[in-house]
Amino acid sequence: MIRAVQLCKKYLMGDSVVNALAGVDLHIAAGEFVSIIGASGSGKSTLMHIIGCLDRPTSGTLEFRGQTVSGMKEKQLAEIRNRHIGFVFQTFNLINRTSALDNVIVPLVYTRRPFAKKQARDALERVGLLHRAKHKPSEMSGGECQRVAIARAIVNSPSLLLADEPTGNLDTRTGEQIMNTFHELHAEGMTIVLVSHEMDIAAQADRMIQMRDGLIIEDTAVDDDHRQKIIADAHEGYRKAFLQKAASRKNPRIAGAVGGPERREAKSE
Ligand code: ADP
Ligand code: MG
Repeated sequence: MIRAVQLCKKYLMGDSVVNALAGVDLHIAAGEFVSIIGASGSGKSTLMHIIGCLDRPTSGTLEFRGQTVSGMKEKQLAEIRNRHIGFVFQTFNLINRTSALDNVIVPLVYTRRPFAKKQARDALERVGLLHRAKHKPSEMSGGECQRVAIARAIVNSPSLLLADEPTGNLDTRTGEQIMNTFHELHAEGMTIVLVSHEMDIAAQADRMIQMRDGLIIEDTAVDDDHRQKIIADAHEGYRKAFLQKAASRKNPRIAGAVGGPERREAKSE
């Protein structure tokens, strides 16, 4: 599906050069579920944008489905994106003034309206949101908005789904629902690459890639035992952080709680 050789991306910031990607070699086969982790600024989003044909590398080559896409003109990239790649963002990126259905229809620019509508309804049904088709983003929860965004990403039946921190703006339970949607899509054969800095999310993939300073520094398969351990460690970390925060607020009710909630706190909603 993806073969990257020595991908580099440089950004000019005034007089200095930022090496956002410093030589990434990567091979992802069709049907894989891969997660990418790494500190903020390590190059995760840059890599996702290049894999997703939203941006071009400064140097290096990228093959997508056997076709060399690095060096292609924007028009050709747009066509590949539209036909083969779905993108899900942390902030949903929906159009606020229009309905869920019309948001999902957006990528179907080349499909006649009646067919497009049917296809968009099918996509909404796949994420369990057909009953929200007429609602605008402001009338839906964050989790529902993200599922609309996933419906939009899969409406063209892409072979590759890229998700950049898709649960970053959601509370734990809603995040889990989003992850379940990804698991279903993966079971149906979709290739998924997901960026997350939350280990319990990232460990749900079959393979974890770690980035630092624009490079891949680790690339490991995740088996069930490994996954359980990573998730348990992450939850213990959340619990400790939660109790520490509560103690520092001098909130005796929460600070004294034994075995407090094993989850991170809701960040929004
Ligand atoms: P991550 O997603 O891991 O947080 P990014 O890929 O967004 O990392 O960024 C990698 C590095 O490239 C950072 O140092 C960031 O500041 C820089 N960078 C990203 N996008 C741009 C841009 N458009 N212009 C200049 N620098 C950028
Ligand atoms: Mg990022």
